[in-house]
Amino acid sequence: MSKILDGIGASEGIGAGRVHILNWGVPDVPHRSIDPEEVAGEEEHLREVFEWAKKRLLDLEDSTEERLGAVEARIFEPQLLMLEDEELIEGAARYIRENRLSAARALDWRLLEIQGKWSRTGHPMVLDRLNDLQDLQVRLLHQLLGLPDPTDVSSLGENVIVVTRNLTPSLTVQFDPSLVLGIAADHGTRTAHWVMLARSLGIPTVCGMGVVSEQAREGQEAIVDGRIGRVVLDPDAHDRRIFRGRETQILAWEEEIETIAQLESITADDQPIALRANLDMPGEAEKARIHGAQGVGLFRTEFLVVGRNQMPDEEDQYQAYKSVAEAFPKQVVTVRTFDLGGDKFPMFLHMPAEENPFLGWRAIRVCLDEPELFRTQLRAILRASAHGDIRIMVPLVNDVEEIRQVRELVQEEEERLTKDGIPFNSGYKLGILVETPAAALEAVELARHSDFFSIGTNDLTQYTLAVDRTSARLAKLFNPFHPAVVQLLSSVSRVAKSAGIEVSVCGEMAANPLGAFLLLGLDITTLSVAWPSLPEVKKMIRSFRMEDARRAAKAAVSAPTSREVVECLVEGISGSVDLSAFSGRWNLPTSK
Ligand code: PEP
Ligand code: MG
Repeated sequence: MSKILDGIGASEGIGAGRVHILNWGVPDVPHRSIDPEEVAGEEEHLREVFEWAKKRLLDLEDSTEERLGAVEARIFEPQLLMLEDEELIEGAARYIRENRLSAARALDWRLLEIQGKWSRTGHPMVLDRLNDLQDLQVRLLHQLLGLPDPTDVSSLGENVIVVTRNLTPSLTVQFDPSLVLGIAADHGTRTAHWVMLARSLGIPTVCGMGVVSEQAREGQEAIVDGRIGRVVLDPDAHDRRIFRGRETQILAWEEEIETIAQLESITADDQPIALRANLDMPGEAEKARIHGAQGVGLFRTEFLVVGRNQMPDEEDQYQAYKSVAEAFPKQVVTVRTFDLGGDKFPMFLHMPAEENPFLGWRAIRVCLDEPELFRTQLRAILRASAHGDIRIMVPLVNDVEEIRQVRELVQEEEERLTKDGIPFNSGYKLGILVETPAAALEAVELARHSDFFSIGTNDLTQYTLAVDRTSARLAKLFNPFHPAVVQLLSSVSRVAKSAGIEVSVCGEMAANPLGAFLLLGLDITTLSVAWPSLPEVKKMIRSFRMEDARRAAKAAVSAPTSREVVECLVEGISGSVDLSAFSGRWNLPTSK
């Protein structure tokens, strides 16, 4: 009988295949003492395995660069450095010589020591490094013990559904989307980095499932529906039929979206809506363009720094920004300055251990305290502005003083570029992400100092409702249709309109049918969504009538509960969009 498990639909599409359980855990290393004459051989074995791992990582780096781009390939740098760390290698070699331990046991000890030392700092940045180190630990120990490498996913076979407790970005980038047809994971949220990579690769993914790795068996048939967030194990004839039907529906829909990408982004009553893309990495720009994006509303730049041992240099950044600008020659490309902190920690910054990292040293707060990091980025963005309509967008702004400081720094960098004779576009726009209740309530003042607003509804919802956006357990409480969020959206839109500046939304809400409908009704006519959602959102927009959206939004703004907000929208939208197609994905509450 088929078993149905639900989780978070995190990467679109439907995939059916055979389960491969990816156990990339640390193996049990048996205690083995060695004879004195074995010492030299074990030490040599240890060093050989490090060399092997290095070669493997370099190959991985090359293939990632080829497939996804140079920036994506850099995520392997920290691991390569770890493999050259004499403290690690020599420390293990000493255990072989002095304690007469086998190479595997010696390395196991040394790694446990290092992990213990790092963990004791309690530093969140270290967790990232621990994840990288664990990745290596698994690989090295399996090789030393002569076991098959569980992180070698190059020979998974065809039609594979990867089932796992959790993944890392380095494992995910190795997946070939023509072979790995789906991912089902116990952990992870839509914003986890490996999940973002799975989306970039276009692999249907359901994460945050809690139990899938315990419930699934190797070789079992499985269907992953990344749209509605469902995994079916051992599907019976009935389930197969349903999913084949859905697959056909999706295929038909995909053919349709190619056509839709070419259509104008206008409502049924001819109101133009600017539909831009959110990018996590420069390599996605081309896909966004093909999917019909009218520019980039949010280019997240954290991939340049997260997991890196060194700050990215100006040239690297310039190339990354320029490549996106060149993909959209006559359109807006909004580069968001580093949104570090929260759940994204680079290794080269000494980030303090914090009780509440999302309320801590984050985003613009980090940038203003780290002028070397920030100035380099600003210079790179300015230089890239010579190649297109590049805008600068500052995250997590709470007050005017922060914008003033950013403007001062940008001006100083402009002067330096002018002095050095380096071209840039002095007419660039500088705006802010409105993503805290403070910014929304201070919008009148902030609008005087900003060229545009973009509302980050992911964070705005998190901070307004005090609901951690990364918590799978709280996912149901993370509700952008809460009246408090709706009122803030309405008020920010009004403020921007009367200040004469553009207001857009770049949070996930813009890709939700009810969300897009509400935003249009609130007069927010620029939306930015993850690139795979572009055709679908355009299709929705083309079926909406502005008049209906305005009427529904007016009622929604004064609705007393989330349920009633949604009811107003469902009522207003009915007739133009079939909401049942989205129900699993967005957990859309239905009106009774
Ligand atoms: C947001 O907060 O809504 C947003 C778009 O930014 P991010 O998801 O990167 O925090
Ligand atoms: Mg945000």
